[in-house]
Amino acid sequence: MDLVVARPEGLYCPPGDFYIDPWRPVARAIITHAHSDHARVGHGHYLAHVASAGVLRGRLGEITLQTVEYGEVITQQGVRISLHPAGHVLGSAQVRIEWQGEVWVASGDYKVEVDPTCTPFEAVRCHTFITESTFGLPIYRWPTPARLMAEVQQWWAENAAAGRPSVVGAYAFGKAQRLLAGLDASTGPLVVHGAVEAVNQSYRAAGVALPETRLASDCSATELKRALVVAPPSALGSPWMKRFPNASDAFASGWMLVRGARRRRGVDRGFVMSDHADWPGLQSAIKATGAQRVIVTHGSVPVMVRWLTEQGLQAEGFRTEYEGEGGSEADTAAAPEAPTEGEAA
Ligand SMILES: [Zn+2]
Ligand SMILES: [Zn+2]
Repeated sequence: MDLVVARPEGLYCPPGDFYIDPWRPVARAIITHAHSDHARVGHGHYLAHVASAGVLRGRLGEITLQTVEYGEVITQQGVRISLHPAGHVLGSAQVRIEWQGEVWVASGDYKVEVDPTCTPFEAVRCHTFITESTFGLPIYRWPTPARLMAEVQQWWAENAAAGRPSVVGAYAFGKAQRLLAGLDASTGPLVVHGAVEAVNQSYRAAGVALPETRLASDCSATELKRALVVAPPSALGSPWMKRFPNASDAFASGWMLVRGARRRRGVDRGFVMSDHADWPGLQSAIKATGAQRVIVTHGSVPVMVRWLTEQGLQAEGFRTEYEGEGGSEADTAAAPEAPTEGEAA
């Protein structure tokens, strides 16, 4: 029997009678992580990793939320359920489901690179693995985290030496914190948009070490000239930018690998930083599960299904409403609930 099937409401587990990251309101939902295309309002009961609670409540308001640690097993109608690190953002989890000797894992979004702001991806052995494929094309290969951060650091140092603020557009939940955690603040102050600071507070409350961050309103004009500023992408073309005259701007995204994407964004620099697995990362993660059957939920579904089939695996796609990097995973949903500097800071 299939332990997860695609229903109009979302991915459904028939023997356990619950959904995983449903996009329509349901009675029981397991939430892999708090990005808005996975965590939606209106469910009767939520189950998520304990580190997700802060961002989930910040975004969804009062919800009936049960939290668990990684590896903790709970049983629902005879189905054993546990969450395992997905390495994507704070509290992100893969859902392991076991019933009558059959094991399925639904991984939500994941990455396999080292990220100091979240627990590393853990390969979980299973019969069937449900995977994303946001960057499931051979062209997508990420630079090492060390090389990426060195590029950002050097760009910042050059701007600071020239008396120019450095403004990076990065999603308020996940990428912004990863960027902050990887930077050396001896170059100048780290300044964040209010929407980023709201999420920073959840990270700090969950025990993640982030460097000191300040709001632009708390800095002098002289300080801002040496600052590295992290803001949601939507702030980049907005009047909020007026407080950083002559700024050099950049955007951090996996799509920055694609020629033309940076130009379309209209920014000076593009940094290839993603919270999704690249093509080799997807391949290694899938192989490590030992799964003989793989279901692909979003991204380059046909390409990934073809590759899996060539590996001798049983593969198919599910139609879902998840979005890849830069969809509603963006700050578009985060920003309205989080204070913007104009209002709250
Ligand atoms: Zn996500
Ligand atoms: Zn997603």
